Formats: sequence, C-alpha cells, structure tokens
Amino acid sequence: MARAWASARCGACTRDGVACRSPAMANGRCRMHGGASTGARTPEGRERARKAPLTHGRRSAASIAMHRQIRAASVQLRDMVRATNAELREAEALHRAMLRRRGR
Ligand SMILES: [Zn+2]
Repeated sequence: MARAWASARCGACTRDGVACRSPAMANGRCRMHGGASTGARTPEGRERARKAPLTHGRRSAASIAMHRQIRAASVQLRDMVRATNAELREAEALHRAMLRRRGR
C-alpha cells in the first residue's frame, strides 16, 4: 500500500479548501478532477458526435427536400388527371350532341 500512495497525486483544490489526494492520471489530475471534455478528436468520433442527436432523420433537410419534391410531383399529377378528365367530359358531351343531331 505504501507504493500505491507513492504515485503522483491530483492536487486539485477541493471544496474543503485542501488539495485532492486521489491518484493522478496521465493528465496530472484524478478521475474526478480531469476537467471538462475537450470534445471528439478523431474524424470518426466527430462524425459520431454529429449524428448522435439525429433520432430518425424524418425531419432532416434531405428528407424534407425529398418530401417536398414528392408532394410537388403529386400535385402536378393530380392537375394532369383533372385536366384529362375535363377533356374527356368535353369529348363525351360533343359525342352525345352529335348522336342527338344524327338521331333527328
Ligand atoms: Zn482530484
């Protein structure tokens, strides 16, 4: 146990006003006084941190843009169907009028 106590100590100023006596880590402070995280360092870690708040991606910019395109195409298609139906009704009315005239 004497050798364990011989290791470097943290030394951070505690709430009691005395130096922390916990064993120091490589950074010179103990596990409680290591300081705030300096954030992700590696590109992989940075990417993971970037994606962490993304829950399902349904509201991501890419998803919103895609749905906007789908909606626009849907509206366009609906308008085309309505225009075609109107033309069809017109042609049918014309056909009926022709048949009536011929019938007389
Ligand atoms: Zn400490």
